[in-house]
Amino acid sequence: MKITLIYPAIGDYKDEACMEPLPLGALAGMTPPDVEIALYDDRLEPIPYDEPTDLVGISVQIYSAKRAYAISAEYRKRGVPVILGGMHVTLLPEEAAQHADAIFVSDAESLWRQVLEDARHGQLKPVYRGCPGIPQSDTFTRHDLYKGKKYLPISLVQFGRGCPFVCTFCATSAYFDHKHYYRQIDHVLAEIERQGRKTIFFVDDNIIGDFDAAKALFRELIPLKLHWVSQASINMTGDRELMDLMAQSGCLGHVVGFESIDQANLRLMQKNQNMLDGFTAYKPQLEILRDYGLQTWAALTVGHDCDTPESVERTLEFAMKNKFTFAAFNLLMPYPGTPLYQQLKDEKRLLYDGKWWLHDDYRFNHAAFIPKNMSPEQLTELTFWMRRTFNSPASIFYRVTDFKTNLRNPYRFGVYLVYNPLFRKETLKKQGIRLSR
Ligand code: SF4
Repeated sequence: MKITLIYPAIGDYKDEACMEPLPLGALAGMTPPDVEIALYDDRLEPIPYDEPTDLVGISVQIYSAKRAYAISAEYRKRGVPVILGGMHVTLLPEEAAQHADAIFVSDAESLWRQVLEDARHGQLKPVYRGCPGIPQSDTFTRHDLYKGKKYLPISLVQFGRGCPFVCTFCATSAYFDHKHYYRQIDHVLAEIERQGRKTIFFVDDNIIGDFDAAKALFRELIPLKLHWVSQASINMTGDRELMDLMAQSGCLGHVVGFESIDQANLRLMQKNQNMLDGFTAYKPQLEILRDYGLQTWAALTVGHDCDTPESVERTLEFAMKNKFTFAAFNLLMPYPGTPLYQQLKDEKRLLYDGKWWLHDDYRFNHAAFIPKNMSPEQLTELTFWMRRTFNSPASIFYRVTDFKTNLRNPYRFGVYLVYNPLFRKETLKKQGIRLSR
C-alpha cells in the first residue's frame, strides 16, 4: 500500500523561507513500515496528481483550506480516496467533510493506524475522532522525508502542544481546550539525536506552558550544546531559574505574543498573563529578555476594539524602539471556533459571509471584519504600512544596533543579517495574495 501526504500552500505562493511540514513528518512516523510514503509540499513543488497512490492525506490549516479542498478534488476526480486532517478540520468538521472521503478530527496519534488498516481494506469511515493528548508519545518524526526539499536549515521538534491560557482570538486555545500536553523528555532527546542538526525550532504553542516541565527539559538540553528557538509567553520572565536554564540550554529567543501595548485591549482579549504584575508596557520584562540575550520575534496584533489609527502607530513605535530582531504585525483574524469569532458574528461585524477563508474575494492579510474605530480598508492599509516600515532597509540597519541581542556575538549578528532580508521579502510578497489558484 502507498499513501501520499500533502502540505498545501496558501494560493500559488512559493515560499523561499519554508520550514519543514512537521505534521506530515510526524504522521509518517506513526505509519507502519510496510506502507510506502510519498510527501509533497505544495509550497515548494508541483503535485503529481497522476502518480499512483492508494490514499491521500492532506493537512489543512485555515489559510490553506481553500487550496487543500482544490487539491482534494483533483485526486477524487481520479478515484483516489482522500482524508483531511489538521486544526481547521477539527474546528470545522462539517465543512471539511464536504471535500473528502474521510476526515480526521483532533490529534492523529490514537487512530492513524486504524485509518490505514481501513484504507487497506477499502473500508475508510467518513469520520475518525481522535483526542488531544501527548504528541508523538511512541513515534519519531520521519525527518528523512524532507531530504532534497529546500527547507530552512533548522529542524522542527515538538516537546508539547496546547497552552493553559485563554486568549479569546486564539485557535490553539480553542483546539486544545486550554490544556497543555508534553512528551517524555528522553523521547524528545532521542528525537533530537536522530535528526542530527544542532539548530532546533521547538514548535510548541507555548514551551513554558508548564514551568516545571520546561525546566526539566532545559536541564537535559544543556549538555547537547544546541541553538534553539521556540514560542513562549512573556510570564516566563517572572521565574529567574527558568530563564537561567533557558539561556544555559542554548535558547536564542522566542516568538513572544505581546499582541498589544494597550491594557484595555489586553483585557478584551483576556491576555491576563501579559499583565501579571501590573502593566508597564512590558518594560521590565523586555529588560530581562535582553539581559539574557534573547533575540525576540514580537507578535503584535492590531484591530482590537480599543485600537485606533494612533494606537496602531504607537504599536509600531514600540517595536522599533525595542529593536526587536523580528516582528509579526498581525491583523486580528476571526478564526472559527474562537470566542472572538462568535462575538463578531453576534455583533454582525464579520465580512465575506463569515467565511473569509473560502471566499473568492478575500485576500491574504486583509481585514475580515468591521473594526470599531476605523474602516476595514484602513486597518488593512495600516497593517501593510507597519510591515513595510518595520522591514525597511533603514529599520533593519537601525534595529541591529542592540549590543545585548543582535550584536551580542558574531553568531547572533549572523542570524539577524541572514533572516531579516529573507523575512522582509517573504512578508511583503505574501500580502494581498489569493488563498487559492
Ligand atoms: S498565550 Fe499564545 S498560545 Fe496561549 S492562548 Fe494565548 S495566544 Fe494562544
